[in-house]
Amino acid sequence: AGPRILVSACLLGQPVRYDGSAKTLQHPLLQHWQQNGWVVSLCPERAGGMPTPRPAAEIANGLSGRDVVAGHALVRDTTGADVTAPFLDGAQAALALAQQEGCTVALLIDGSPSCGSLMIYDGSFTGQKQAGEGVTAALLRQNGIAVFAPADIEKLAASLSSF
Ligand code: SF4
Repeated sequence: AGPRILVSACLLGQPVRYDGSAKTLQHPLLQHWQQNGWVVSLCPERAGGMPTPRPAAEIANGLSGRDVVAGHALVRDTTGADVTAPFLDGAQAALALAQQEGCTVALLIDGSPSCGSLMIYDGSFTGQKQAGEGVTAALLRQNGIAVFAPADIEKLAASLSSF
């Protein structure tokens, strides 16, 4: 048995993003991990009960996923609806699956209010990015799972060298 890697479903070509698209990552490392059966796929927002398509959402007031997990921040969509509960449900589902499948690392799409690990949007829906992490990325990290963005896939690979 090798390592197990939780991967954002949209990176694997599943059209689950808010706008109905995928964000397929064509990378030989990811292909190799899939061929080895190391990849566990999940979309936290779909797992949290949200449909595709759905309105875009951002963590409010320039806060981060850690603040949402701690109950200090909300997630809102472009209609103004509070979607914090499904985002938290999705993060819990991702953590439960990762633990059940023995995932010690995750490769998640950056910029997402769920999956972002380096940057997220600032809550103003004006396209402004800031350093920060999404709700799922925060909960996984708080539980000892290392989260990497696609830009850092080589770092993720290096972290697997013990296998
Ligand atoms: Fe992709 Fe994560 Fe957004 Fe789902 S929640 S569409 S897996 S970035």
